Amino acid sequence: MVSKHTSPRVLFPQSINEALQMAAGENSPVFWAGGTGITASLKPNSSLLNLPKVIISLRMLDELTRASRSELGMEIGSMVTLDRLASIRRRILPPGIPETLALIGNKPLRCRATLGGHIAQALNRKEQGCLLPLLQLLEATVEIRYLRERPRRKPISAVKRIPLTQLENEEGLGSSQLITRVNIPASSWNFVVVEKLPSSESTASPLLFHSLARIEKSVLTDWRAAVSDATGRILRNRETEAVVSGRSLPFSDRDRSALEDGIKWLTKPWEDRPEDCAAVLRLAFDFMRKAAE
Ligand SMILES: Cc1cc2nc3c(=O)[nH]c(=O)nc-3n(C[C@H](O)[C@H](O)[C@H](O)COP(=O)(O)OP(=O)(O)OC[C@H]3O[C@@H](n4cnc5c(N)ncnc54)[C@H](O)[C@@H]3O)c2cc1C
Repeated sequence: MVSKHTSPRVLFPQSINEALQMAAGENSPVFWAGGTGITASLKPNSSLLNLPKVIISLRMLDELTRASRSELGMEIGSMVTLDRLASIRRRILPPGIPETLALIGNKPLRCRATLGGHIAQALNRKEQGCLLPLLQLLEATVEIRYLRERPRRKPISAVKRIPLTQLENEEGLGSSQLITRVNIPASSWNFVVVEKLPSSESTASPLLFHSLARIEKSVLTDWRAAVSDATGRILRNRETEAVVSGRSLPFSDRDRSALEDGIKWLTKPWEDRPEDCAAVLRLAFDFMRKAAE
């Protein structure tokens, strides 16, 4: 049997506007950033890769490859690769970023995979996106460019900046919405823990625990924590974060019990995974113990 194969059309826009125009004019176009997610998800058709019919490569968009830091925070272009991000000096990067990047795949993957591709893939396919829980805790916003339709006039390029927490609840990005930048506001977290527990026979998938704290003179002035797994769902309990913030370290019995209740509530969606629930509880108590040292 001879299978008919047509090569994809690959377009190379030179500007964001051109990329948006191209996306609007094509049927089911796919933005290609590092290509790691796209190629990994393709079903091989005999010996051929079943590539998308129209690919819009983002590699000529130099303006998306920049990262900068100011007193307001950090702005990272969507085409910055995970490896380049990891090479930025630790004291410049927001807390927890280097530790989380190190958990993603391996070095060859990180040299190709981009921040924008990582976020888009996790949002669209509701799957593993190790950076997303941390970016949520850091209150990151995602800048999205798209073409806005206007009655009887040409569509115009528009921009929206959406908190990642809000994007997570949406039904993914539209096929012609382009992530251009990620903004992470400046913060003063001084204690961070990032843990990945590997999946085992009894745990469904690797479990990720991110926790940030600000500790001043043995007082936990602010605390945030998120747990997630490969389904892309991020669990947080803002009420407990608020209840334990402002408490003295080490915790009193009453604070410990509030933390325990909060973590049990947080992991309720995983009732059928008691080992994962117990692991999250242990990680939260370990965090508080280390914070008190
Ligand atoms: C072997 C392997 C191991 C992995 N291990 C991990 C892991 O341990 N932890 C983890 O979190 N992830 C892991 N991943 C997922 C990985 O993080 C993503 O594949 C990667 O970040 C995607 O980035 P990319 O630049 O290659 O995106 P691409 O593959 O180019 O694109 C992915 C999707 O995002 C869209 N897209 C890309 N850029 C944009 C943009 N700027 N705006 C809008 N849409 C866009 C594309 O159209 C496509 O739908 C792994 C992937 C592989 C292949």
